[in-house]
Amino acid sequence: MAEETIFSKIIRKEIPTELLYQDDLVTAFRDIHPRTPTHILIVPNVLIPTVNDVEPEHEAALGRMFTVARKLAAKEGINDDGYRLIVNCNRHGGQEVYHIHMHLVGGQPLGAMLAR
Ligand code: 5GP
Repeated sequence: MAEETIFSKIIRKEIPTELLYQDDLVTAFRDIHPRTPTHILIVPNVLIPTVNDVEPEHEAALGRMFTVARKLAAKEGINDDGYRLIVNCNRHGGQEVYHIHMHLVGGQPLGAMLAR
């Protein structure tokens, strides 16, 4: 069994956090240390530690993360200018929280995808 992270507590509303979106598959809330004017985390309700743990049974939740990203980007008013969706995996990916999540970042020009 994978070890739960703070995100499971947020999903279960055991830690007071403003939820921007929640349904039976996914939950979205603002990053506690925003790197951009809009910085939202979209997470599956089920604990999947990393992309390496993704299975076909997770496809519904992972797909829902994209439709929720689209809706939240429109709600934030950043859809026309554009934004970036990021999923980090393990050490080289810079993953800190081992509950898979999609960062929705935008609200300013984001520059090159990777530092050169
Ligand atoms: P990672 O590096 O794993 O892709 O990103 C983890 C993100 O979770 C970081 O951007 C970090 O600021 C955010 N984060 C960590 N703990 C909390 C928390 O308790 N609440 C919220 N809202 N965000 C968190």
